[in-house]
Amino acid sequence: MSYLEGKKILVTGATGFVGRNLVRELRNRGLGLLIPRREDYDLMVQGEVRRMFRELEPEVVFHLAGMVGGILANKERPAEFFYNNILLNTMVIHEAYLSGVEKLITLIGGCSYPAGALSPISEDQLFNGYPQPESAPYSLAKAMSVVQAQAYRKQYGFNAIVLVPGNLYGPYDNFDLESSHVIPALIRKFHEARKKGLKEVTVWGSGKPVRDFIYVEDACKVIVRAAEIYNEPDIINVSSGKGISIAELVDLVAEVVGFDGEIVWDRSKPDGQMIKIFDVKRMKAKLGEFNFVSLKEGLEKTYQWYLENLD
Ligand code: GDP
Repeated sequence: MSYLEGKKILVTGATGFVGRNLVRELRNRGLGLLIPRREDYDLMVQGEVRRMFRELEPEVVFHLAGMVGGILANKERPAEFFYNNILLNTMVIHEAYLSGVEKLITLIGGCSYPAGALSPISEDQLFNGYPQPESAPYSLAKAMSVVQAQAYRKQYGFNAIVLVPGNLYGPYDNFDLESSHVIPALIRKFHEARKKGLKEVTVWGSGKPVRDFIYVEDACKVIVRAAEIYNEPDIINVSSGKGISIAELVDLVAEVVGFDGEIVWDRSKPDGQMIKIFDVKRMKAKLGEFNFVSLKEGLEKTYQWYLENLD
């Protein structure tokens, strides 16, 4: 029997990208969920965070709420990304502990790793250096939840675990071209170009960077299994562990969407980190094997979702 069966489970950030997928995964398993609404509890106010835990009395918390944004938003509003995230996480974890929550599961982004982290990026590199400067205020605020979880486990025996997903994509992703990640951007650009009969599509950078993508529904399966069986202080990467260059990705998305025109590389746009692949040895050792979809299948499912929901 799963540890989660019969538990009172609360999900913060349930309307976000990971949140919506995780809620679906948990409900598919027949689990009932407590989903607090923003109007009912403002997680930026300590008294309301406390009241939420007192009124809802969860035993297990999936904490996904936070202020998220693309690289541009992070560049323009670094103070807000820092303040909102560090405050919200600190209060949610603290009040969860105080209210007697049994287990808390939270996530930080791969961007919390040092900018100079060597791929495959192993978990022990987290505090070896400063993250990409543009998003460091966000990334470091998030990384503090690792410090907090470990400190609370050590002093209070509080069971909080932190997972680090790689580059996520899939249903409910952000498809806004200014602030999205590469996969939703490519899906949208190729789809619109095909519909309008355009001969070329412009994509960013040189095509040389390498990334490690994980389909969000697969990531949610890993998150749920960690919630069921993992109770240790060490963070765990959640990704495919496989790299693909942006140029290859562009070809694959074009094929899935059915765009056969020209690709124009806009080299005035940033490449970002050249190579980012996650070490997934710990994930396999601690959580077991998973049957992830291939990148092509994941892209097909995502495009299908896009057609049904956003076109
Ligand atoms: P990150 O670099 O891992 O934080 O994630 P992104 O998904 O934002 O970008 C990954 C790579 O895709 C970068 O090298 C981008 O330059 C490249 N890329 C190519 N076209 C696009 C695009 O239209 N949008 C985004 N966001 N990235 C793109």
